[in-house]
Amino acid sequence: PRALDPLAVREDFPILSRSVGGQPLVYLDSAATSQKPRQVIDAEVSFLTRENAAVHRGAHTLAAEATELFEDARATVAGFVGAQPEQLVWTSGATAGLNLVAYAIGNATLGRGAPASARFALAPGDEIVVTEIEHHANLIPWQELAARTGAVLRHIPVREDGTIDLDAAASVISDRTRIVAFTHVSNVLGIVNPVVELVALARSAGAITLLDACQSAPHLPLDLPGLGVDIAVFSGHKMLGPYGIGGLYGRREVLEALPPFLTGGSMITTVSLDSAEYLPPPQRFEAGTQPVSQAIALAAAVRYLDAVGMDAVHAHERMLERRLREGLRQIEGVRVLGDPATRSGAPTVDRVGLAAFDVAGVHAHDVGQLLDSRGIAVRVGHHCAAPLHRRFGLTASVRASTALYTTNDEVDLFLDALSGVRAFFGATE
Ligand code: PMP
Repeated sequence: PRALDPLAVREDFPILSRSVGGQPLVYLDSAATSQKPRQVIDAEVSFLTRENAAVHRGAHTLAAEATELFEDARATVAGFVGAQPEQLVWTSGATAGLNLVAYAIGNATLGRGAPASARFALAPGDEIVVTEIEHHANLIPWQELAARTGAVLRHIPVREDGTIDLDAAASVISDRTRIVAFTHVSNVLGIVNPVVELVALARSAGAITLLDACQSAPHLPLDLPGLGVDIAVFSGHKMLGPYGIGGLYGRREVLEALPPFLTGGSMITTVSLDSAEYLPPPQRFEAGTQPVSQAIALAAAVRYLDAVGMDAVHAHERMLERRLREGLRQIEGVRVLGDPATRSGAPTVDRVGLAAFDVAGVHAHDVGQLLDSRGIAVRVGHHCAAPLHRRFGLTASVRASTALYTTNDEVDLFLDALSGVRAFFGATE
């Protein structure tokens, strides 16, 4: 692929030139939220300055311009994940998208929706399958749906090296399975999961698949139709876009059959006091006023990513990830979660640029504070993946995560600062 020049990229990100405590900011928390280029900030400001109006109604010029920009944004973001515009539903984020699906399936279970919705209805004893590595956003909505419907929640285990155990998956997924929901890339392990294999297992069991693409969309070329998933969600703020916007992709026949979750204005055709008819997707899932300026800015974000090239982004971040992981392995007392070195003969896996680790004898929060005193921003805690941490015998870890604007020098500054941490806290023998 074309090579990525992170120094040129950084010129577009105003925040990256600020300092923290008198030192240059080293931002290694992009998996929590990415920084935003000028092009994205400008797109949102420009819309609010020039075209702002309510979309899809109104006969005036501004409304028409706003509608055109909003629907162009849908086409742009849909194209970024290989989809058609009508396959992309705007949400306020990945969490909202996952809840939308869980509640829509709950509504199908209550007999709501068109006759085709019946295929989503759950009966007591039906099974919903997740993995052990899920973000709470792709776990708790399913716990709630199981509790509401009498379905049973099961999980596919993760191996010590962080890979999904496909043999175990084949035994967990059965003809009782109705939904298989899993993440493309874990926000703790960074490993790219075997989507095609999991989709094949789910399909042969007659289950629908739901992919959490939050941590893949900003880092890899993504072709959702090619992966064969029924539904996928992603989050704008992690992919250079604003807060309050995300996408829900669905296969056409799935979106057409799924009943709505939120109801109200903008999602109907005819309404009487007793009943209403709903618009086809995507509008059926977009009740109420939409995040218009955020959608337009998210389109600017994916145009930015496309201009750099997602192959180049992925290659750059793989290089950073290898440097990060190799460096962490050299530091005494550091254990990286899901490290392939822990299992001999482990297959090489594809990854994005992040690593979460434990420092023996030092609490993650103390590590985070010491790094902050050097201007280095990392994430500490369970990263909304408490079951995964428990699996590795931890309650918290430190996570360093990169993006297209991260440099080798930043990784080195981080490794250098970290190498003194145990001695600083008196944790070495
Ligand atoms: N899934 C994963 C894998 C994530 O990393 C995140 C964000 N931490 C989410 C879901 C939730 O996304 P949001 O908070 O934007 O709704």
